[in-house]
Amino acid sequence: MIHYTCDCCKRKIDADDELRYIVRLEVYAALDPSEEADDDRDHLQEIQEVLERLDDPQEAEACSEVYHQQRFDLCSECRDQYVQDPLGRPLTAQVNFSQN
Ligand SMILES: [Zn+2]
Repeated sequence: MIHYTCDCCKRKIDADDELRYIVRLEVYAALDPSEEADDDRDHLQEIQEVLERLDDPQEAEACSEVYHQQRFDLCSECRDQYVQDPLGRPLTAQVNFSQN
């Protein structure tokens, strides 16, 4: 039996008993918008090249500002909270914003 731990509340998730959610976070620098619009494959290839360079630890550090990827396991409760507030903004600010 495999046990996972929620990366948010550190609770153990029993994979047999409850759903586990995976958050894949991908943050990358927006490349030249005109290039991006021209051909999506070029854009993907540039990302691929960045990923390949991540094998080299020194290059990885240089690339971390260009491309950042993280993966989290979440329990169902933390998942519900995360999808409501993925950027960690205060909920009150969101309510005020929607009322305006
Ligand atoms: Zn949790």
